[in-house]
Amino acid sequence: MDVNCIVCHDLNSAISIEHIIPESLGNKLYLCQKGKICDRCNQKFSKFEKKALTLSTLVMQRSRYSIPSKKGKPASGEINGLKINGDQNFRKGFVEIRGKVKLIKKQGSTDLYDLIVGTFDRDESTPCTKLFFKIAIEALYHSKIEIYNKYDGQLENLRRFILGLDNKEWPIITSSFGVNEMIDIPEESIINHLKESHIEIKFIETFSSLIFCFKTDEICFQVDLLNRLNSDWIHNILNNDPFARLYPIYYYKVFNRGPRIDKQ
Ligand SMILES: [Zn+2]
Repeated sequence: MDVNCIVCHDLNSAISIEHIIPESLGNKLYLCQKGKICDRCNQKFSKFEKKALTLSTLVMQRSRYSIPSKKGKPASGEINGLKINGDQNFRKGFVEIRGKVKLIKKQGSTDLYDLIVGTFDRDESTPCTKLFFKIAIEALYHSKIEIYNKYDGQLENLRRFILGLDNKEWPIITSSFGVNEMIDIPEESIINHLKESHIEIKFIETFSSLIFCFKTDEICFQVDLLNRLNSDWIHNILNNDPFARLYPIYYYKVFNRGPRIDKQ
């Protein structure tokens, strides 16, 4: 039976299975209904998905928790010139990092260090943003249909961005500000399944925006699904969370915040 793809709207009879969250992030159970993502979109997604999973902080997440790749191999990737590999024997917490790193001694400790990795600009942020958008559309459709239907008509810019028809970057924030008030998207059994790989996906409706959050243990990514230039939301987070970061960094200028200097 032919159905319409929820991203490109094409009528199709897809044969591929679409994981709402990539298998390489530990998701085995949260799947799209067949045909809701057409084979052509599925192929397009795999390109940015691969980049997001190997060139961003997500490779650290996969390595730390020893989540095997689709092919059953340890995670491997590269962040800003550093080669990152998960443990060959899948031991949790063992990550191999090769390259020049900056270590900063933890205050009050003699043998603990923070590892500083300058990262997450355009090369990785765009594939990550696309991945989060695709997860958001699929998850809302699958688990929160009333929210999906309410905003469906306002998601066209986001769909064009996912499909690469409009490549202007979309701002993304890393911050846990406001995440406690957000609502889990999946159903209970899936929430528990995703917790095994330390991932949560949430949303919140605010005045004129629909915020999606992809949360790992260390980092929360937040994006507004409706607007590229939502200054109220961005200023609110940056004003309230000194640890919040906005990417790509030229958006600091766009939002008139001046460049942010990280203390290192
Ligand atoms: Zn499609």
